[in-house]
Amino acid sequence: MTQETVGFAALGIHPNVLAAIVAVGYEEPSPIQAQSIPLILEGHDMIGQAQTGTGKTAAFLISIITQLLQTPPPKERYMGEPRALIIAPTRELVVQIAKDAAALTKYTGLNVMTFVGGMDFDKQLKQLEARFCDILVATPGRLLDFNQRGEVHLDMVEVMVLDEADRMLDMGFIHDVKKVLAKLPPKRQNLLFSATFSKDIVDLANKL
Ligand code: AMP
Repeated sequence: MTQETVGFAALGIHPNVLAAIVAVGYEEPSPIQAQSIPLILEGHDMIGQAQTGTGKTAAFLISIITQLLQTPPPKERYMGEPRALIIAPTRELVVQIAKDAAALTKYTGLNVMTFVGGMDFDKQLKQLEARFCDILVATPGRLLDFNQRGEVHLDMVEVMVLDEADRMLDMGFIHDVKKVLAKLPPKRQNLLFSATFSKDIVDLANKL
């Protein structure tokens, strides 16, 4: 192990994720990563107050990928059943998260998929039919579309992330988000990230 990975290595991250961290060139965990990764790995629900640029995306991705590798998938598994669900307010953010997830899952064999509005529906459907879905990154509206058509089932989700929750509410997605939450199994881990904490965000966090 190189000197650079000592900080990350002390956090309990799976070796195959550590290898990817070295490959993407992160040398030291950022403060939010050092604080949140051990808590998430212990299975706690978490609320993180974090702006873009703090490394919050890698914080939840590194933790989720480690957990997926440490917990074997259910024996009976079907296509279209994600184990981890990440909901973000915009297409750009979904694409960025999925890009980071692809880099961090490089040595794991886990599959990352995305659903966003304004992109070819059939193409997004095809990825679901081709492989198991380990991590699904989606905007709330498109996720509901796929769910209502019976293409994606949310009852096997083990961990759910609401990223940029304040923007999600500002953009009027609260009803979609609540509909998605109602489809998730009651036993799951919840992670919520938001730059600001209005009463609505606190209410949403309490609901989780
Ligand atoms: P985020 O706050 O998730 O939007 O991340 C901001 C940027 O920091 C992204 O470009 C990441 O690739 C990068 N990043 C995340 N964690 C680290 C780290 N530990 N060291 C260096 N760069 C990082």
